[in-house]
Amino acid sequence: MGSDPISTIADLRTTLAARRANGLVGVVPTMGALHAGHASLITHARHECATVVVSIFVNPLQFDRPEDLQRYPRSLETDAALCESLGVDLVFAPSVEEMYPKQPECSVSVGRLADHLCGRFRPGHFAGVATVVLKLFEIVQADRAYFGEKDAQQLAIVRRLAFDFNLPVRVVGVPTVRESDGLALSSRNQRLDAAERALAPTLYRALHRVRGDVAAGVTDVSELKRSGTAEIPVDHRLKLEYLEIVDPDDFQPVQQVGRTVVAAGALWVGSTRLIDNLTCAPGSAMPSAE
Ligand code: AMP
Repeated sequence: MGSDPISTIADLRTTLAARRANGLVGVVPTMGALHAGHASLITHARHECATVVVSIFVNPLQFDRPEDLQRYPRSLETDAALCESLGVDLVFAPSVEEMYPKQPECSVSVGRLADHLCGRFRPGHFAGVATVVLKLFEIVQADRAYFGEKDAQQLAIVRRLAFDFNLPVRVVGVPTVRESDGLALSSRNQRLDAAERALAPTLYRALHRVRGDVAAGVTDVSELKRSGTAEIPVDHRLKLEYLEIVDPDDFQPVQQVGRTVVAAGALWVGSTRLIDNLTCAPGSAMPSAE
């Protein structure tokens, strides 16, 4: 990269215009505080595209709690250095005023895909996500956009956004990167103290239990939820917001497992909310490691 982050839409457009002839443009939208999960998205983009753009923008529209927005970790300098080391061509880090010079009058509303899981507990969250992603797609006009499977509901909504609005971008899903104890990497993990960090992988364990049970032939969703939830220890620092089993196409809860499903959960660990999900294939003997 060898240059500072670009902060204006006009500068980004001018710089990109000169590069489009080189081949595919890929974008990796992020909120910064980059970790190995983001790095995996960037590496996928680097392999496939001539020009890689990483956007870093903490989008106020998608935060349902002001304190979460305020506490969200920000580290532009180290993020830019990581991007440089990964061969990113352009870092786009606009201010809130650049992205929203006026309070928006128009936004994207999301239907059934946002009814459950995080959509149920974070009012307006996915409308905020879909709106900023649409803006980023319009600004960057990338050929490919890379999103993590860690945020499976978000990935499904972005895919559908591109489909519904005929956006000429290919949305690429990238597998979740985890710590060795299963905890999915997340910018929010930095907020955990040592005791909370030790408790955090219990969400993965719960989902892993569901996956194992589905693979072993259990089809009753209440039973699956019961055994998954039992993996979360009783501890005053832990509060399970949801553990649901949904259809991977429409993200609606299923009653019975008849085909591949997604087990997804949100766990409060102290004042930090963590999410995770695993794809579960029925009767597939031993689940593969993820
Ligand atoms: P965020 O900065 O949290 O908004 O995430 C930016 C992108 O990185 C999203 O597409 C996320 O799904 C993806 N991402 C975040 N954590 C991980 C992870 N542990 N593994 C893979 N992708 C991730």
